[in-house]
Amino acid sequence: MPTAVAKDNAFANTQQKAESPLTLNGVLTQGALVRGQVPVGANVTLNEKPVLVNAAGKFVIGFEREAPLNHKLSVTLSSGEVFVREITLKKRDYDIQRIDGLEQKMVTPPAEVTARIKQDNINVAKARSGNSNLDALFTRFEWPAKGPITGVYGSQRILNGVPKWPHYGVDVGAPTGTPVFAPVDGVVTLADDLYYSGNTLILDHGMRVFSTFLHLDTITVNVGDAVNQGDQIGTIGSTGRSTGPHLDWRINLGKVRLDPQTVVSGTPDEG
Ligand SMILES: [Zn+2]
Repeated sequence: MPTAVAKDNAFANTQQKAESPLTLNGVLTQGALVRGQVPVGANVTLNEKPVLVNAAGKFVIGFEREAPLNHKLSVTLSSGEVFVREITLKKRDYDIQRIDGLEQKMVTPPAEVTARIKQDNINVAKARSGNSNLDALFTRFEWPAKGPITGVYGSQRILNGVPKWPHYGVDVGAPTGTPVFAPVDGVVTLADDLYYSGNTLILDHGMRVFSTFLHLDTITVNVGDAVNQGDQIGTIGSTGRSTGPHLDWRINLGKVRLDPQTVVSGTPDEG
């Protein structure tokens, strides 16, 4: 019996490989950005919701920090044939740190900056609201700076018993002035000094995928500039509410915050 099953599976896999109209490129975990390819003209849905597919049959999906583990990706070819792929994500354990006995002013921002923070959030949301047809997101991402990883996606601090907003970036620790490069091609949609994140830069990589770079010392590009992978876009700093010089790099799919380490391989100190 086991032999027969194995044989059947092997046969089924071979058949599926030859016929599957779907390729996925990415790690299937919570927080992941996953790129996919289907035949031109095919429609894709994720959990019955339509997924944007470009003219080359490429698409992108993302799974947020606490995404459910089971998903259904469905591909309908122009012939009407339907293929379904069940996706089971790997569950992640995030680092949770409790700090008690902090002075209250360190925990809640002062009242006089509330309006500014609100406006910052509006500007950031606008800078990530586009849906451009750039296809830079389908190229291989490179680390935007060199240095050790000092913070990871998903970690969370609980200050005086109050859970704070989780950390959604990957931090690269390096001295002020260290160059920051575009991880792939992009167009600048925000270059501004914000209350929390200091000098902040947002790049549009297409199809609602955006990079955000926080706490920069300098920004050397302007809104509307098209940058190429590897172009210098600024320098590492400690502007805004930051405890020391580092680059905080974030990846969004629209409003959904994803883990940059699911689009880039290796470590930033490998060079
Ligand atoms: Zn950070």
